[in-house]
Formats: sequence, structure tokens, C-alpha cells
Amino acid sequence: MTKGRIKRLQSEARAQEMQFKVAALTVCALCDRPIPPALRDAHHLIPKSRGGVMTVYVHRACHKQIHALFTETELAKNYPSPQALREHPEMARFINWIKDKPSEFNPPTKRSRLR
Ligand SMILES: [Zn+2]
Ligand SMILES: [Zn+2]
Repeated sequence: MTKGRIKRLQSEARAQEMQFKVAALTVCALCDRPIPPALRDAHHLIPKSRGGVMTVYVHRACHKQIHALFTETELAKNYPSPQALREHPEMARFINWIKDKPSEFNPPTKRSRLR
């Protein structure tokens, strides 16, 4: 093996490692579990319709839960941070429930009219 090839392999390995680290670091802003790329949603802390640009990554399931509980007005006014969202009692209950589930878990959002 030539020196140049070894160098190239090393830098490829480093690039892969970095990609892996970035992927591994993507944890949900709500439930703190890792997010599989296929279930990763960006949530606007302040809704786009209110001029918000900051987003956080959350599970699709967690994201649905946020929007099932809050209107855009409430999000903009009272819940413009993951911390504020987590402190809401209904959200806390949801997080408590979902945190032991596998990270690929994607439950259908419950709607009362389905019963
Ligand atoms: Zn959202
Ligand atoms: Zn989550």
C-alpha cells in the first residue's frame, strides 16, 4: 500500500467518522432520544407564518404531538423554546411515555374522532 493511499483512506475514515458523529448527535429537542434520519422533522420554534426561522430537530411523532397540543399563536407566544414545550404538563406526559420506546417508533397520532 502506498503512503498516498493510506493517507486517503485515513481521511475517508475521518470523514465517515464525522458524518457518523453528526448523525449520532441528532437528538430530539423534546424527548432527547436519537432521531433516525427518516423520522427527523424540523420544528419552527416560532411558526414560519409568524416570521420564525429557528428550527430544532424532533421526531415526527414528537412534532405531531406539539402541533396537536398547541396552535401557532400559542407556540409563538408561550412556547418558543424546547424547554417551554417540555414543561407543559401534557407534553411532559407524552415525553415520559415515549422516552422508553425505540427511537424508530412512530405511533399514529391519536385523534378522538377515530374512536
Ligand atoms: Zn412544527
Ligand atoms: Zn422525540
